[in-house]
Amino acid sequence: TEETLVLVKPDGVARGLTGAILARIEAKGYALVDLKLVEPDRALLEQHYAEHEGKPFYEPLLEFMMSGPSVAIRLAGNRVIEGFRSLAGTTDPTTAAPGTIRGDFGRDWGLKVQQNLVHGSDSVESAQRELGIWFS
Ligand code: ATP
Repeated sequence: TEETLVLVKPDGVARGLTGAILARIEAKGYALVDLKLVEPDRALLEQHYAEHEGKPFYEPLLEFMMSGPSVAIRLAGNRVIEGFRSLAGTTDPTTAAPGTIRGDFGRDWGLKVQQNLVHGSDSVESAQRELGIWFS
């Protein structure tokens, strides 16, 4: 069965939305395999976001991800990678579809980074890579 890395990012944890987000994941039927609260250091985030190095939002993104704890989840189920990304909605929470996590709980808070509540791996390869980073 397929696995993915899901993060409830610092904005989701700080706003007390972890339970509501986990409820949607569980209601959809995916299995929680492992779950922990993490305060990632810069080195971990540089690995996780290596593909974005050099982009204008890279530094603000790392600062944001170091601003408080995230919840890291190893999630399993058939087609869970695309299934969770569908639950999450598109990157920009202002325009993410209502009914999705980002669309229902997110908005633009005026910062240089999209505070969009959750992360989900986007392919089998990135899931394996990211699970190795967060659950080594
Ligand atoms: P994630 O990978 O976190 O699930 P995603 O695949 O929708 O989200 P990516 O393009 O991988 O988005 O970007 C990673 C993160 O960087 C986004 O979730 C968001 O927090 C931030 N980000 C992406 N694009 C922008 C942008 N243009 N401006 C500000 N922040 C951005």
